Amino acid sequence: MTIDLPKRARVIIVGGGVIGCSVAYHLAKLGWNDVVLLERKQLTSGTTWHAAGLVGQLRQSINMTQLARYTGELYRGLEAETGQATGYRQCGSLSLATTPGRMEELKRNASMAKVFGLPVNVVSPAEIHSLYPLANLEDVIGGIHIPSDGYANAVDITQALAKGARNGGVRIFQELKVTAMRHDGGRVTGVDTEHGGIDADYVVLCGGMWTRDLAASIGVTVPLHACEHYYVLFQDVPGLHSDMPVLRDYDHCSYFKYDAGKLLVGAFEPNARPWGAQGIPEDFAFGEIAGDFSHFEPVLMDAMRRIPALEHAGIQKFFCGPESFTPDVRYHLGESTELKNCFVAAGLNSIGLQSAGGVGKVVAEWIRDGHPPLDLWEVDVRRNMPFQINRKYLRARVSESLGLLYATHWPFRQYETARGVRKSALHDRLARAGACFGEAFGWERANWYAPAGVEPSYGYSYGRQNWFEYSAHEHRAVRSAVGLFDQSSFAKFRLEGADAARVLNRVCANDVAVAPGRMVYTQWLNERGGIEADLTVTRLTESAYLIVSGAETESKDFNWLKRHIDRQAHCVLTNVTSGMGVLSLMGPRARELLQSVTPEDVSDRVFPFATSRVIELGYALVRASRITFVGELGWELYVPTEFMQGVYDELVAAGVRYGLVHAGYHALNSLRMEKAYRHWGHDITDEDTPWEAGLGFAVKLDKPGGFIGREALLRQRESGVHKRLVQFKLKSPDPLLYHNEPIWRGDSIAGFIRSGMYGHSLGAAVGLGYVALPAPAGGAKGAADAAIGADDYEIEVAGVRHPATASLRPLYDPKSERIKC
Ligand SMILES: Cc1cc2nc3c(=O)[nH]c(=O)nc-3n(C[C@H](O)[C@H](O)[C@H](O)COP(=O)(O)OP(=O)(O)OC[C@H]3O[C@@H](n4cnc5c(N)ncnc54)[C@H](O)[C@@H]3O)c2cc1C
Repeated sequence: MTIDLPKRARVIIVGGGVIGCSVAYHLAKLGWNDVVLLERKQLTSGTTWHAAGLVGQLRQSINMTQLARYTGELYRGLEAETGQATGYRQCGSLSLATTPGRMEELKRNASMAKVFGLPVNVVSPAEIHSLYPLANLEDVIGGIHIPSDGYANAVDITQALAKGARNGGVRIFQELKVTAMRHDGGRVTGVDTEHGGIDADYVVLCGGMWTRDLAASIGVTVPLHACEHYYVLFQDVPGLHSDMPVLRDYDHCSYFKYDAGKLLVGAFEPNARPWGAQGIPEDFAFGEIAGDFSHFEPVLMDAMRRIPALEHAGIQKFFCGPESFTPDVRYHLGESTELKNCFVAAGLNSIGLQSAGGVGKVVAEWIRDGHPPLDLWEVDVRRNMPFQINRKYLRARVSESLGLLYATHWPFRQYETARGVRKSALHDRLARAGACFGEAFGWERANWYAPAGVEPSYGYSYGRQNWFEYSAHEHRAVRSAVGLFDQSSFAKFRLEGADAARVLNRVCANDVAVAPGRMVYTQWLNERGGIEADLTVTRLTESAYLIVSGAETESKDFNWLKRHIDRQAHCVLTNVTSGMGVLSLMGPRARELLQSVTPEDVSDRVFPFATSRVIELGYALVRASRITFVGELGWELYVPTEFMQGVYDELVAAGVRYGLVHAGYHALNSLRMEKAYRHWGHDITDEDTPWEAGLGFAVKLDKPGGFIGREALLRQRESGVHKRLVQFKLKSPDPLLYHNEPIWRGDSIAGFIRSGMYGHSLGAAVGLGYVALPAPAGGAKGAADAAIGADDYEIEVAGVRHPATASLRPLYDPKSERIKC
């Protein structure tokens, strides 16, 4: 067979499922027509052809909902645009709650939807009955109805997107497998196929469940694994009609959808079955898996109770097909950290059809602009750690991922699979102290400590959970005495060499050309002035720096800096995360405790705030850095890993005299929220600037050599900021804030809560969120203050609006008197 394959293209898309075709369609819409899509078999032949067809719009976060909402809008007009039928029908959707916790979740989601005007109605059982008479509602306490949701035919949607792409100039080749990836000098340069190679500026990996292996072949981290995914088609269901809404019975892991005269019943069961562990058969196309009926049967029994008419209907088809799932049930988008211009759009966790429009749009714009069009961190492929492509880890985790789509999204919910992956040197000691561990990026971290006789395990709810008072006790101990946090999961890098200062100062918005021993709190900005990283930089010597960032951004931050080391620079960047543990001593008695275990003078005169020195502690040499993330006097102690246990034992023994208490990440979060310390990924992201985030104090516009993002900041200072990050405290001590709650100013929504937590010292829930300024504040501080402070605010929680106090200055210790003492 001869194939007229081009020698080069601007963009190559690998994979012709709904995702690859959507990326192609949207690139064409942007006028990029030198695009080639390569499909190893036929379009849709991977997972797409057997998608059930649900096109829902409400997701668990604001930006994911925006993507899904755009998808719905796109599909509504796609048939008219391309002339290709899509089977799209706007029938609405109904989601049921059979427990108070689920009802609270649905109501909170309905509130969140108001932020961007998606109509979501909270409905009673009677209203549900009138919309869906076939359902048995005896255990249902309520639900939500989204009139603009619908369903579509996944094959037709994909073909319509492919047609739109072809109309825009995209060339699609089928029966053409990409056999290898080309790269050179840290950049992707093309692909090899069975019929020759193609050079390209960009390659987009949209290979569904095949993507992990193809990406791994060039050192790119894309953790995903296929799982069996089931549905059953019932025929002859009395009372069925095409306008019935899609019904989701989350509490029984099932959904119900009209499907060409039949009723399709699908499942999101716990303990899913991973598939393809030994590799996916080469000839797999339009494939089905034999499946295990007994695995699906419990869901089916519940489904028959929900729709009694099914008992008299016949099963036309029992279907099982593979779909790729990811460790955190979020898909992977964007440019890889490891290889420039190598983009990923894969791991769609069974929401690929309803996400494809938004995914294709943002990936196309990301390629065009060199940055994501909105904050997409939650799905950004750079969040992944290299170890996560370990297949044993993936198999264990995805067996849980699938069911989590329909499980209640309890606040603070922890994964139950693939635990104990990354442990601090103190893990066993902390366990003996009562730690209840949570998992973050593979790390086991103490979230709270159970007192003697109490089981360290979570009791989930949307209200005060079982650990609330224990964590409050830790919080108060930090405010009144001293707390010990194990923060070994911090990402830690060393930059060393004659040009280290020059390189780092160009990346940091603050001035890090300081004397050795000084610490600098800084942001790394992109060219638009948006915040890419939030970290501390310690100058160790003339030519060496220690850079400390959050555990979740270890990969991203390391690679951001690495990419900004120019070819001429004499400096080496090393990830030293594993080499050092971190113990934080925080609280007004931290100095007394530290002084009791070290011969060094740790008085404020000798050891002032934002300085760092090596001190003797026990038998170890420890780097003590006077800094805080909780708003109290304190030190972070950087301890070589093998010395951690000895140093910990020393501190714990000495700490008895000073009221030392073990404290976990929930207390840390509560403490930092009161002090309005920002958390990257929530309160500050790549689309928020330091002016907007209230971090202008850490920007040195006039330092020699400038820095990345400076010009954008100057422009914004000129034109004025249009939003500001504001701290809110609810006036009532009862409701709890988590995230995404709408912020009302008078009768309009001014923003939403980026992160929320209970403030035990302030005595109420605290949240941080951006509010749109009524008029451009022109950068004038006073004007912004007046605009924020003068208004009445309410925060909506599960449909109820609660009055809140707003402040641009931290509500706890606004003058930082407790830190610099
Ligand atoms: C039973 C079931 C029901 C579902 N129901 C829904 C639903 O109702 N709503 C919803 O939104 N989602 C649903 N999904 C999920 C949805 O089908 C997927 O998320 C989506 O189809 C994924 O699309 P994709 O393009 O990423 O992957 P795929 O469709 O698998 O496409 C990837 C393509 O890449 C090709 N490829 C791989 N490697 C290479 C290579 N080396 N060279 C060339 N080509 C290559 C493959 O052949 C394949 O065609 C369901 C999934 C299942 C299994």
